[in-house]
Amino acid sequence: MNRNTNKNQSRNKNRRRGHRPFKKQIQELREKAVENSNAKLEIIPLGGFSEIGRNSVAIRADDEVIILDLGLMMDKYIEYTDSDDLVEISGRKLIEIGAAPDVNILGKLKKQVKAILLTHAHLDHIGSVPYIANKFDCDIHSAPFTIELVRRMYEDEKRMPRGKLVAHDVNSRFKIGTKFEVEFIFITHSAPQTVMALIHTPYGKILYANDFKFDNNPTMGQKPNYERLRELKGQIDYLIVDTLYADQPIKTPSEKIAEEMLKDVLLGTQSRDATIIVSTFSSHIARIRAIINVAKMMKRTPVLLGRSLFKYTDAAEAVGLADFSDAERVPYGSKVRSYLKKLKNPEKYLLIATGHQGEPKAILSRIVDQNLLKLTDNDMVIFSSKTIPVPVSIANREKLDAKLRAKHVRIFDNIHVSGHGAREDHRDFLNMLKPKHIIPTHGNMKQLNAFRELAEEVGYKQNQIRIIKVGERVKVA
Ligand SMILES: [Zn+2]
Repeated sequence: MNRNTNKNQSRNKNRRRGHRPFKKQIQELREKAVENSNAKLEIIPLGGFSEIGRNSVAIRADDEVIILDLGLMMDKYIEYTDSDDLVEISGRKLIEIGAAPDVNILGKLKKQVKAILLTHAHLDHIGSVPYIANKFDCDIHSAPFTIELVRRMYEDEKRMPRGKLVAHDVNSRFKIGTKFEVEFIFITHSAPQTVMALIHTPYGKILYANDFKFDNNPTMGQKPNYERLRELKGQIDYLIVDTLYADQPIKTPSEKIAEEMLKDVLLGTQSRDATIIVSTFSSHIARIRAIINVAKMMKRTPVLLGRSLFKYTDAAEAVGLADFSDAERVPYGSKVRSYLKKLKNPEKYLLIATGHQGEPKAILSRIVDQNLLKLTDNDMVIFSSKTIPVPVSIANREKLDAKLRAKHVRIFDNIHVSGHGAREDHRDFLNMLKPKHIIPTHGNMKQLNAFRELAEEVGYKQNQIRIIKVGERVKVA
């Protein structure tokens, strides 16, 4: 009995101990916030450094600050809210659970933020905007598609942006405050109108290249702006760069390959009488367009099911990026149910649904759980996606796949290519740009170290490569 009491006591002690270092860590990070106050130009990581998700970084030149991206850490967000779509929750709570960038690191600098710049429409880059951006008295700048989405996110949250939402061309240059000139450089990625943001300041140039691939055969939109990148050779003081696939010894295949993979599965299997459901990323406008095109080749009516598919495709139409009038769209959950219940000949349709990560509330899971369609032997579910390697997604997909297998549904997984460059893309990028210093981001230690190894191979010295954590500020000048 005595022993048990001791055990409990020490357990409680450990619990308390485990709690304290976490608080201390945050305190230390915030103290570091004033460390570089003698710097003229510094980089202040707010989220996504030595971790994956909630991408955000601030740049301070003298007494002016800009923020690049305000993302969400999706797995922490989903774990807390049980939803993959944005729900009502306070910004403070999101910061507390580590799902939103810790903008409190900025301390007094919060009042000096002159602009928020967003590079593309993925939630790990813009998802915190409706919750956090209003802490700053400034405008939000991005390419038209991303701005259109942000506008809709505010509407969904029934909130108003504090500043203006300003759309710029994907290759453009504009002034912010008195210290910054921002240049957008178009780059290919799995969301349309993605840009790298080049920050010109009187004290140096910083290129923020967080999320990109080099796609020389994009199925929608332009090729990367290599011309501008080549012009910048040797001129970049700090490159902040996406490393998600830096440990993969390949060049990431073009989106054209994903289109061919889809055709291979949809046109090259015995699918005539099958019910076919394809699930993919709602923000992947080029992919959704490709799926619709193949549906038409199969003489099936394409149908987009789910709120987020509707939101992204509608935003793409609003800015003239793509036309989806040749597809039926059923945005709301209740309507999806009645639509599917009334569907007499599902084999005449190609259903495109949300839920490729097995999210329990998304359409695909609901079709299976609520029997909205009678799925059986030769029916097909195609995941034009990759399971995000975080515990919550892996578990959700395992559950969904087991239910599909129980119905003898044919599963086609990973009919997909990534939107992130891999090791050999990074090698080309470094040789093309020759930045003076590099801060690898958007990766865990394995990927960050793989990037460091590659940079050393290309000729960089240890002191030119900085692997930093959230809150660890870097003095540029
Ligand atoms: Zn992205």
